[in-house]
Amino acid sequence: MSTEITPSANEVRQLNFIEEIIEKEKKSEELPIVHTRFPPEPNGYLHIGHAKSICLNFGLAKKYNGKCNLRFDDTNPTAEDVEYVDSIKEDVHWLGFDWEDRMFYASDYFQQIYDWAVLLIKKDKAFVCDLTAHEVSDMRGNPNIPAKPSPYKNRTVEENLDLFERMKNGEFSDGSKTLRAKINLASPNMHMRDPVLYRLLRASHHRTGNKWCIYPMYDFAHGQSDYIEGITHSICTLEFEVHRPLYEWFLEALELPLPRPRQIEFARLNLTYTVMSKRKLLELVKSNYVNGWDDPRMPTICGLRRRGYTTESIRNFAEKIGVAKRENIIDVSLLEFCIRENLNKKANRILGVLNPLKVVITNYTENTEEELEAINNPENANAGTRKIPFSKELFIERDDFMEEPPKDYFRLKPGGEVRLRYAYYIKCENVIKNTKTGEITEIHCTYDTESKGGKTIDGRKVKGTIHWVSAKNAIECEVRLYDRLFKSENPESGQDFKEDLNPDSLKVVTGFVEPFIISAKAGEKYQLERIGYFNVDKDSKPDNIVLNRTVTLKDTWSKNLKR
Ligand code: ATP
Ligand code: MG
Repeated sequence: MSTEITPSANEVRQLNFIEEIIEKEKKSEELPIVHTRFPPEPNGYLHIGHAKSICLNFGLAKKYNGKCNLRFDDTNPTAEDVEYVDSIKEDVHWLGFDWEDRMFYASDYFQQIYDWAVLLIKKDKAFVCDLTAHEVSDMRGNPNIPAKPSPYKNRTVEENLDLFERMKNGEFSDGSKTLRAKINLASPNMHMRDPVLYRLLRASHHRTGNKWCIYPMYDFAHGQSDYIEGITHSICTLEFEVHRPLYEWFLEALELPLPRPRQIEFARLNLTYTVMSKRKLLELVKSNYVNGWDDPRMPTICGLRRRGYTTESIRNFAEKIGVAKRENIIDVSLLEFCIRENLNKKANRILGVLNPLKVVITNYTENTEEELEAINNPENANAGTRKIPFSKELFIERDDFMEEPPKDYFRLKPGGEVRLRYAYYIKCENVIKNTKTGEITEIHCTYDTESKGGKTIDGRKVKGTIHWVSAKNAIECEVRLYDRLFKSENPESGQDFKEDLNPDSLKVVTGFVEPFIISAKAGEKYQLERIGYFNVDKDSKPDNIVLNRTVTLKDTWSKNLKR
């Protein structure tokens, strides 16, 4: 299940199999401009799998100086909504892609698609069928047993034309009739067994309103929409491989002039610890298992954005996973690697303590305060420095003190010395406890007045460096510690994916962060040193700063802090 980390995106990589196809076409024939499209159905928010498809379609267009359309395949009015249309546009732009003036809707083509349905009837390749959905399904057979023919299949062309027009005019009730193609009831491909082309549905469409009471099936709209737009490469996920003969049959039966789109299927992105279907994500939202589509635990693009993922990290991820022809599952830690790699360079460091233990520096003058210089980002020389306040009372992380430590514990312990990041050496002199509970309430330390900036005069060294904040200056922040939403690698393997939800996927704590945080704006990203990367949430206000943990950190700046 583990995934190897492939070379970084800007290193040279091999062509993926779709690029190989295009390169071959370029050599062997006159390839018109490469024209792709990203065709979402606006029935939910986009997820990281869609991001892969967006990067692929827009990426190919860019690479080959072509074009990529954004097209909403909006053939199912009951599930679709402008809210989804708007979110999809925002997400595609956020990923850094532009459809220019080529945003389309399958509903733009409803008249043309209707006319094509009429043409199929005239060619005696489609008929109006009165069977219910249930009856059709009962008569379908299976791949080895042919379907039974509909008793309505022998209606005359005239009768079919008349009935279809009356379907359009609203003379029949929903579900009472369909228009079906006449293809092959014995085909081992079930999609070819006289599939439904049109259904009666009185539902208001988010764009065409109540103009239509018949709607084309996705299969009867998708391929023709690609054709209308002059798409050269219709890139879609593997489950559409079995639909390809049907799409080709439509274009052929309609005798549409060449060139026609070439459909190429690739493996959809699956991620460990993640569910990726819009239907399931909708269920999580509707039943309040999460706080909306942009909940930072969601694999949606807006959720990842709110979690703190950047455009670069997601595009890099899409590049690293490549394009496969066979189903696979990618380790979610690769996605986490990509955001760490990106934020390591981008995010400034700040100090904050999430589980505070008070430290009193007994030899530090009462009521004084000094400012110490801290480096904003050791990975970026241009990031500069800032001042952090130091005073007599500090907070350190409770974990960074142990009363009875094992031998290789290099942080604070009774009688032991440790370096405070950007500050002084301190030595633990006394441990104060609650007499009733035995809980440690304070640590009393002395500091080496000559060790400012972390260097001692006599050259003595300590192995441990810990972070801290000045108690009276620290800003209390709401820190949302996000973890994986599901407990197991494949949440979809069981009966009900909801049973696999991780009850600890969100823990909210009060953190104490250096004063700089007061000026932080929503969407800014910081590394809390030794803790992780955090994104300032959109809910954040000056009097209640909210930090979302994007991802934990591998402890990089102190190799010795193993424990
Ligand atoms: P879901 O299965 O998650 O409900 P969908 O395939 O129904 O998604 P669409 O709106 O039809 O969603 O998808 C738009 C485009 O995104 C399609 O071309 C589809 O192939 C692609 N896509 C959807 N899911 C993935 C995925 N997991 N990996 C790669 N591409 C995907
Ligand atoms: Mg779909």
